[in-house]
Amino acid sequence: MSTLAANPPTDRAGRTVSYLRLSVTDRCDLRCRYCLPEQPRFLPKAQILTLEQLLLIAQVFVGRGITKIRITGGEPLARRNVIWLIERIAALPGLAETVLTTNGTRLAAMADDLRCAGIARINVSLDTLDAAKFTRLTRTGDLAQVTAGLAAAAAAGFAAIRINTVLMNGFNDDELTALVEFADQLGADISFIEEMPLGDIDGSRPHRYLEAGAALAILHRRFALTETDYSSGGPARYWQLANSPTRVGFIAPHSRNFCASCNRLRITCTGDLYPCLGQNGRVALAAAAAAGDRQAISDAIDRALANKPDGHHFAAANAGAQVLRYMATTGG
Ligand code: SAM
Repeated sequence: MSTLAANPPTDRAGRTVSYLRLSVTDRCDLRCRYCLPEQPRFLPKAQILTLEQLLLIAQVFVGRGITKIRITGGEPLARRNVIWLIERIAALPGLAETVLTTNGTRLAAMADDLRCAGIARINVSLDTLDAAKFTRLTRTGDLAQVTAGLAAAAAAGFAAIRINTVLMNGFNDDELTALVEFADQLGADISFIEEMPLGDIDGSRPHRYLEAGAALAILHRRFALTETDYSSGGPARYWQLANSPTRVGFIAPHSRNFCASCNRLRITCTGDLYPCLGQNGRVALAAAAAAGDRQAISDAIDRALANKPDGHHFAAANAGAQVLRYMATTGG
């Protein structure tokens, strides 16, 4: 395998695949009701890839032309010594961007270290600005930790901060304008995400499904928003808030399917390579990573590209558990 930076590979449908989402743990300190059951069974530590194995995998992917890696989980900042890994991944020649998705609970203490380690942009998940609702939704969380984390991130000087909000009818449909105002005051972007049927929760998903178009209509009543062609390299479509740098994005896997332009692969913290979030096909990398076998990892990438599905088959109307893995398991 060449160590020179390659062009991003293409899959069997001709889609360029340049983006890897790398999960470093399945554990999370929050239990968001749409994401995890109340008592999730986290994996035994022996099944989780070591930091060295995760780094080796990242090296091979970047050698194959991947230009953007998102560190995720579970809660990535709950992984011990994650800064060690991030520093090394961010320094890989050929990698244009190392980015992170976090729930923000540890961000107040870690924002500066993350910035120094080479994280360019950061996504922070936040579904409500009401402290009591936040604790109810996350079952364990303290909103003040996340808002302190966001303030620390704003002070740390990331190139961009984006708030990610899952749309939930009857839960945060009345807070969408407040969340946009909060993002504006912080100097951040915000993206609203349609809830996906990932993992068996409690049958409540279909009742709270809120389509991106309905959310946009709510926001149009309050704000002047202009559609843009800006892309952050992911599936969000963005609207510009008037008189503000804030962009308001929508990720709409149900109402505006973006599988035809999917540019990503995902790796779980156990080394399973998933070419599609919404399908069950995977290629196991753990044995190759444990053996330090770069060629076998590279061959696995080819198998994943050859089998990357055309798309998911989520259906909002019957959005029960259509894929049995939780988002926190695959790497959100
Ligand atoms: N712990 C980190 C965090 O909270 O951002 C990273 C992992 S979390 C699984 C990544 C993102 O997935 C979060 O923004 C979360 O809200 C979102 N998510 C989880 N389950 C989802 C679902 N069923 N549908 C849509 N988004 C979901």
